Amino acid sequence: MSAASSAPVSPAPVAAFDQLPLPEALKAGVAALGFTQMTPVQAASLPAALAGEDLIVQAPTGSGKTAAFGLALLAALDSSLWQVQALVLCPTRELADQVAEELRRLARAAGNVKILSLCGGTPMRPQRESLAHGAHVVVGTPGRLMDLLDVGALQLGGLQTLVFDEADRMLDMGFIDDMVTVASQCPAERQTLLFSATYPEGIAKLASRFLRKPRQLTVSAPTA
Ligand code: ADP
Ligand code: MG
Repeated sequence: MSAASSAPVSPAPVAAFDQLPLPEALKAGVAALGFTQMTPVQAASLPAALAGEDLIVQAPTGSGKTAAFGLALLAALDSSLWQVQALVLCPTRELADQVAEELRRLARAAGNVKILSLCGGTPMRPQRESLAHGAHVVVGTPGRLMDLLDVGALQLGGLQTLVFDEADRMLDMGFIDDMVTVASQCPAERQTLLFSATYPEGIAKLASRFLRKPRQLTVSAPTA
């Protein structure tokens, strides 16, 4: 039984970013990236995401999901508080690095926002040192994030936004236990956003465990 409410998302109306209730600095970040119109997934998800709702978003690769969750988590962030306020779980280092880079570009005009990409396959010590210096947003692969939690280097007491990016791929790669462990250590009072190209049973289970009254959005690939 799913707690998700289903919401039809037919082609979202084309809309400009400046219609969104975004802080001015983030509007500047969007403009700096050269974005003017929202993509369908952004138009469908950003109003609810900015209102703090939990979301399950099914959308194809290349549809603009990074800015969809990126703007939501950055808008909720208080950069004067030096604690990790947003955590983004990604399947691979390459994707985590790309997400971190786009978030940095979006946040550039928003002052001193520290965004780290922390993945496996590299020594932990520099990552522990980076975390000790303070970070607002952490993007990374589930296994390494769990290891950093285990040693107390990553602390999630101030977390506001948890994002599962490419959740189906993380599941395919066998990350489910790490995803569950990490999500279980996040404060109950938070927003959770789950993005996935497909919606297999495993994702539905994960969503019913970790999302609260999620709105479920499906954005299909452009037919053109
Ligand atoms: P996904 O995560 O859905 O695969 P991305 O977030 O990586 O997609 O975005 C795909 C590409 O589209 C990136 O190069 C990104 O910079 C670009 N993009 C995203 N949103 C917009 C937009 N509103 N206008 C123009 N380009 C965009
Ligand atoms: Mg992506």
